[in-house]
Amino acid sequence: MTTITLVQGDITRQSADAIVNAANSSLLGGGGVDGAIHRRGGPAILAECRDLRASHYGKGLPTGQAVATTAGELEASWVIHTVGPVWSATEDRAHLLASCYREALRVADELGARTVAFPAVSTGVYRWPMEDAARIAVETVRAAETAVEEVRFVLFDEAAYEVFARRIR
Ligand code: ADP
Repeated sequence: MTTITLVQGDITRQSADAIVNAANSSLLGGGGVDGAIHRRGGPAILAECRDLRASHYGKGLPTGQAVATTAGELEASWVIHTVGPVWSATEDRAHLLASCYREALRVADELGARTVAFPAVSTGVYRWPMEDAARIAVETVRAAETAVEEVRFVLFDEAAYEVFARRIR
């Protein structure tokens, strides 16, 4: 049974087995959660991301997929990087956003992670509307077959927290 919990705050301050990064396909850093994770986690994370680019992901990590690295100096054993879809008003990309949560949990299971902290993937620079992103996130986690015991959604601001809170009530 997976328990869903909610926290308002900075995901880089969380203690969890795995912290999920809303990465971009380059895996080489960006803004938002990605920038914060690399800043606080230190250079070991980027070094592993570069190795991944040089080996398995020469063209980058495809949208909807997930891959793990060390968490560097974060209070976690792993960072699981996933690439959310950019919001589109004309094309339904919900399956790709759902895939981020499913794939991140699949990687977490491979690692043996029991607590996993997620940001609201795609809701920043990638502009996905928070209501819809929260629906997809919660539905996908609830439907997932995973040994992860706690999925913790970490929402940066109060508005996002409230949207998620209404979903899990
Ligand atoms: P994406 O490119 O997938 O949209 P972003 O990192 O730009 O990813 O934003 C994803 C969500 O994470 C947004 O709702 C943003 O407000 C939030 N966010 C940004 N920084 C942090 C942080 N340090 N901790 C938790 N959430 C964050």
